[in-house]
Amino acid sequence: MGFVELQMTWQPSLLSEKRKKGPPLGLRNLGNSCYLNSVLQCLTYTPPLANFCLRSQHSSSCDASASKKPRDCPFCILEAWIARSLTLDLTLDSPSKIQSCIKIFAEHFRFGRQEDAHEFLRYVIDACHNTCLRLKKLRRKGSEGVGGGGEAVNGNTVVKEIFGGALQSQVKCLGCGGESNKVDEIMDISLDILNSGSLKEAMHKFFKPEVLDGNNKYKCDNCKKLVAARKQLSICQAPNILVIQLKRFEGILGAKIDRLITFDEVLILSTFMSKASQDPHPVYNLFGTIVHSGYSPESGHYYAYIKDAMGRWYCCNDSLSHFQPYRRSCLRIIYSSLVLTKGQGLTVPLFLQMELNHMILMEVRHPKS
Ligand SMILES: [Zn+2]
Ligand SMILES: [Zn+2]
Repeated sequence: MGFVELQMTWQPSLLSEKRKKGPPLGLRNLGNSCYLNSVLQCLTYTPPLANFCLRSQHSSSCDASASKKPRDCPFCILEAWIARSLTLDLTLDSPSKIQSCIKIFAEHFRFGRQEDAHEFLRYVIDACHNTCLRLKKLRRKGSEGVGGGGEAVNGNTVVKEIFGGALQSQVKCLGCGGESNKVDEIMDISLDILNSGSLKEAMHKFFKPEVLDGNNKYKCDNCKKLVAARKQLSICQAPNILVIQLKRFEGILGAKIDRLITFDEVLILSTFMSKASQDPHPVYNLFGTIVHSGYSPESGHYYAYIKDAMGRWYCCNDSLSHFQPYRRSCLRIIYSSLVLTKGQGLTVPLFLQMELNHMILMEVRHPKS
């Protein structure tokens, strides 16, 4: 399997009537599994991943069940879950298979313990990516006998096609003007929010040039000494699905940063792109968010908002998933309606409490025209 052509838009014909007309599948909480439920809802409603799974494109070429010793494969399990959620006419289900196999996604996760949703999302993405790499190597090995070339397997997989991007880190010597560029592949962007009031502001801070001077000077290969330099990050490859983590927890024992971070439904990355990028104007539409309410990542509660195949927004809170009209100022509407349904005894107005707790934003790239 070489390059996979991603299907970025929904095909309602593949979905069950319940998913076309009604809300997303509600997910039972199996004991502190709200982090898992929230991540699954967002992954299920990631259009290119959902389309890939609905067509069984991973399992049809996976060796896990066909081999002599059938074993659990993380991507097969995720694919089965996503396809099941979107094609069955159920209103409520339990992700018990994923929960019971939690260790094949993240070895140190424990059944029944509250975990960090962002960490889990990263583990799921990495586990599926590594599975694809392993299968690729296996196929390469198999074809070597029949004249397969000796070239190395490249690191591209469907998971990387979906979530992968690249950041360029450029250091420019302020003495000789020489530049050094380094490229790092990314599967998401983690933003500091300590001094920001909006997603835009946090992005600008993340990509702001930084002067390396004083104790932090740069060793220039041309000048052959420590010099002052300017360091700047930019995006050289914009991902198809952009995942942004708002860093609400500082370190392991850090307190939660519960400041309000505003964001729009459309995100344009033009100002953060590398000059040399072939792709100067990436535009994204928000399709999912994961919210954490509570004071530490090990406690509190996670839930998600997702945009479904028909473009409707839903709040997915474990077994409850209900329609939420999303408009420009929708967040307030969403949260005030939650006051009525959830009745949590919070002392600040609930819309604010909820809004400031968003921690993962997922954006789908607007089709290139
Ligand atoms: Zn598999
Ligand atoms: Zn220099």
